[in-house]
Amino acid sequence: MIPYGRQNITAGDVKAVSAVLGSDWITQGPAIEQFERAVADYCGAEYAVAVSNGTAALHLAALALDLGPGDQLWTSPITFLASANCALYCGAKVDFVDVDPATITMDPVALDQKLAEAANHNELPAIIIPVHFAGQSCNMETIKALADQYDVRVMEDACQALGGSYRMSKIGDCRHSDAAIFSFHPVKSITTGEGGMVVTNDKKMCERVKRLRSHGVTRSEELMQEKTHGPWYYEQVELGFNYRLTDIQAALGKSQLDRLDSFVSRRAELAARYSRAFSDLPVTPLTQAADQQSAWHLYVIQIDLASVSLSRREIFEALRIAGIGVNVHHIPVHLQPFYSAFGFAPGDFPHAENYYKRAITLPLYKDLTDAQQDEVIATVKATLS
Ligand SMILES: *Cc1c(COP(=O)(O)O)cnc(C)c1O
Repeated sequence: MIPYGRQNITAGDVKAVSAVLGSDWITQGPAIEQFERAVADYCGAEYAVAVSNGTAALHLAALALDLGPGDQLWTSPITFLASANCALYCGAKVDFVDVDPATITMDPVALDQKLAEAANHNELPAIIIPVHFAGQSCNMETIKALADQYDVRVMEDACQALGGSYRMSKIGDCRHSDAAIFSFHPVKSITTGEGGMVVTNDKKMCERVKRLRSHGVTRSEELMQEKTHGPWYYEQVELGFNYRLTDIQAALGKSQLDRLDSFVSRRAELAARYSRAFSDLPVTPLTQAADQQSAWHLYVIQIDLASVSLSRREIFEALRIAGIGVNVHHIPVHLQPFYSAFGFAPGDFPHAENYYKRAITLPLYKDLTDAQQDEVIATVKATLS
């Protein structure tokens, strides 16, 4: 089976991990700080805080922006569950903004309308999480301008988009947001096994996320209620978690980061090959906005079901049987039975639902060879003809 995604691990990665294993620190030592600095510098942001996974990063960033009971968080329905679940962890409510049918990222027009309506009912969200779906940046300039107009915080869910860029600067520079969130799960741009990061230009946010990832504990006296008991003293100033990344993982991440640009350029090359090969087929790739360069996390085709005789499920199963590890990203979050308990129902976000009915994700990763991709292309063509 040719999988839809796969990590690239080299002897250099193994060496970097081994070096940490033989060192004095295997968690929360110098490799964490080096990885954080390297990601912040890569993105052009001031600060980065490494945590145990992307979901933890979303949770802590939302907490650091003071999300809590009585608040709302809005995100895209086409995302991984975590972009919405992070609001529930904080006791807040979730709502969604439908996607643009061309790019399948948050539609600024829908956002504008929803914000105006919410303002009328005094129900504005505290946080908006635009999701850079498949590696493509949302229209951040417009989204941030709208958020500013209504005094709403913005967290970019950039879990799929490390290495991509928007208007000539890297995704994660937080020029149009309070924070950006990355994941280092094995199918993402670079991996640490499990891992995540909050990137921000706000020093307070950085410090708060650092504190929250280690039980809400501080060693700085100006934050303490009690006078220090001595050099050992630390104080818990709020409720935090153990969401730490290990130095073992950070060493892998730093070593991977050195190859990020080559990963993204190979993915872009493969994506262009797919798009050329499918130009005559009844399929539509995601439209690429001219002012961004995708990190190409996913290559998605949307099948024109009216002009083929098979259902999406039949096409999907035929491809799997032929050894192509296709997938579907994502089931709209509001259609999850768990979310229907909050009042969501089919028909709520029609662009997202229409997309979901006809989407299939094809294999796309650094080490996919031209020959393997040709096999995928030939199988897709044969299945659709
Ligand atoms: C992968 C992903 C996450 C979650 O990241 P984990 O590291 O798996 O917790 C969140 N949002 C999006 C859009 C993702 O793709």
